[in-house]
Amino acid sequence: MPPSGPRKPPDKLPAYFYRLSPRAQRCYLASDSATNYEFVPDKAVGKAVSELMRVLESGKAAATEQAARKVVAETCRVAGVVPPTIDVREVRPKNARGELHGLFYPANPRKPSGPHIVLWMRTAERHDVVKPRTFVRTLMHELAHYFDYSVLKLEDSFHTRGFFSRESYLMRTTSPRREEPRETEGPAMLRAWLDRHGGDSDR
Ligand SMILES: [Zn+2]
Repeated sequence: MPPSGPRKPPDKLPAYFYRLSPRAQRCYLASDSATNYEFVPDKAVGKAVSELMRVLESGKAAATEQAARKVVAETCRVAGVVPPTIDVREVRPKNARGELHGLFYPANPRKPSGPHIVLWMRTAERHDVVKPRTFVRTLMHELAHYFDYSVLKLEDSFHTRGFFSRESYLMRTTSPRREEPRETEGPAMLRAWLDRHGGDSDR
């Protein structure tokens, strides 16, 4: 899609898109156009997600990590890819830009490290255990980054509209509560924030 002049309607491509290389722009647009996956998470994934939500509320990091690992394993089984490693930590790190919910580290060909997910289970200020649904959404968000590389074979993982709709697809197909909150929650807000700040925050 060529640049359309200085004035662009809201909810179109973010400003930073136009600063990307042509190759990265192609990757961005490929990401933007894929709204879901060809695989459909089955009952075993849903069961693992329910169990994760239950275990998280106990506030135990080791048990939560084990339950999150099961969700990753089951989702990756359905997706037909090798699961990334996962690490669940206690209190979210915080800086001027806000609290970090999760991180995805892609495989680094120069290091002997595979893809890796880190999730935090307690809020920065009050150290409360995060809401189960928020925690699962963060996990699905980081998995969606992983799937950009492993399933969609993209060279990079951008926060495109397609990306957030794939994240929602993972939530919708694995989460016990079927109805999705309106797009005023996490992803839409993160997207708006990223559009304002011109880049990706969690990779
Ligand atoms: Zn992200």
